[in-house]
Amino acid sequence: MIPATILIGGLRYTIEEVEDLHSIDGEKCDGLLNVDTWAIRLEARLPEKAREQVLWHEIIHAMLNQMGRIEQYKDENLIDALAFGVVSVLQSNPNYTHYRDPHLVFNWT
Ligand SMILES: [Zn+2]
Repeated sequence: MIPATILIGGLRYTIEEVEDLHSIDGEKCDGLLNVDTWAIRLEARLPEKAREQVLWHEIIHAMLNQMGRIEQYKDENLIDALAFGVVSVLQSNPNYTHYRDPHLVFNWT
C-alpha cells in the first residue's frame, strides 16, 4: 500500500498519485520528487507494485539529496539499481517487516 506521507531523514514528504504525470518540462514520467516542497508524485495508472518501485526510486533520490550527494542524486541508473535492490529485499523477506510498524522501530530487543 502506498502511504499518503513518508518520513525520509526526519522530513515528512507527501505522496500524491496523479494520472498522466508529466515533469515541469512536459516530459511523461512515472514519478517526480520535489525537494523544495517535500513532495513525491506517482503515476496513478501504474500497477501498485510498479508504483512501489517508483516510490523507492524517489525515496532514494530524496535520501541522496539530503546527504548532499548531488552527483549520485542525478545518477538515474544507480538510483534504479538501488530501488530495485531495496524492493527485492523487502519482497523476498516478508517476515522482516518490523520496520513498517512505527511502534517497533526503536525496539531492538
Ligand atoms: Zn529519477
